[in-house]
Amino acid sequence: MNAHVPFVDLASQHAEIAAEVEAGMAAVFAATAFVDGPPVADFEHEYADFVGAEHCIGVGNGTDAVELALRAVGVGPGGEVLLPANTFVATAEAVSRIGAVPVPVDVDDDRLLLDPDRVEAAITERTQAVVAVHLFGQLAPMERLAAICEAAGVPLVEDAAQSQGARVGGRRAGGLGAIAATSFYPGKNLGAAGDAGAVTTDDATMAAEVRRLRNHGSSTRYVHDVIGMNSRLDTVQAVYLRAKLDRLEKWNELRVRAAARYDALLADVPGVRRPLLGAEGQHVWHLYVVRVAERDRVLAELSRAGIGAGIHYPYPVHLTGAYAHLGLGPGTAPVAEAAAGEILSLPMHPHLTEAMQDRVVEVLRSAVRGDTA
Ligand SMILES: *Cc1c(COP(=O)(O)O)cnc(C)c1O
Repeated sequence: MNAHVPFVDLASQHAEIAAEVEAGMAAVFAATAFVDGPPVADFEHEYADFVGAEHCIGVGNGTDAVELALRAVGVGPGGEVLLPANTFVATAEAVSRIGAVPVPVDVDDDRLLLDPDRVEAAITERTQAVVAVHLFGQLAPMERLAAICEAAGVPLVEDAAQSQGARVGGRRAGGLGAIAATSFYPGKNLGAAGDAGAVTTDDATMAAEVRRLRNHGSSTRYVHDVIGMNSRLDTVQAVYLRAKLDRLEKWNELRVRAAARYDALLADVPGVRRPLLGAEGQHVWHLYVVRVAERDRVLAELSRAGIGAGIHYPYPVHLTGAYAHLGLGPGTAPVAEAAAGEILSLPMHPHLTEAMQDRVVEVLRSAVRGDTA
């Protein structure tokens, strides 16, 4: 048996919403409301409600969302922004595009999330913000980070691109910091039909600033008081996102169930370190990441057997070519660096079947044991 198990399955998600999306798209095209059509404001209200934030501003993609959130809290050229060493490079790119400097900080070994003690030690008078990334769908330790940031007078910004719906104590990712950025890249828990993103916040002043910056620095037509950018949320993406937002809770619940089942199946597989299930708050399993020795060989064997697995991410930010100029070599973030050689993301999506999971575990078991399949 050599059944293919996809890493993500956007087709099954699309099938559930296709009819609704077709009707919504037809209305957009009929009205030719391509930019700032009514579905954009509708989605912004619905997503703000979902997150429990006062304001949501739809933008063009997640990287712009991080940049705009950072600019709204006052990050500017030359400032430093602390962020986890193991994040998608976009978190750092957003900082660099402002002319500020990303400072990678190491993570805890259990969850690979920003380590508050190390954040506290890394804050200097040049620090203009801390970005907490809710990696893999887990929530960063926001309570401790918030206390540290407050004591230092530094704003705490969330990168919630991998965590739509994650919650703790009745509050959700995107509503836990001063301001939050998220991405609706198609493969995220809430994915668009192309690029899209959003900023959420309770702060009316910051919300207005993001709104103005995303639209050429203008809140009144042809009045441009600051240099902004064009990063508006497409109307067609808003239609798509509204349909998916209606299903997000159900889809996240299916991810939670799949993660619990992986956990049970992998409990007796020696050599596989499982992610922690009992997190503080509700994890939404954007990625199910195990750790194994000889990861590259194991990944190659999974691929050969038709299992869609991946690495998120093979290089910590400071060890990418793009950030070689920071001059931070190996040893800068030992936990993140060691993890980068062991992490392996298994197929995870709402439509993962039990048969697919059984197959993944069977192949992983023999790959880790070193059997030739
Ligand atoms: C996906 C992602 C982003 C950026 O998203 P784009 O929409 O691709 O620009 C930023 N941060 C993290 C952690 C992400 O996973």
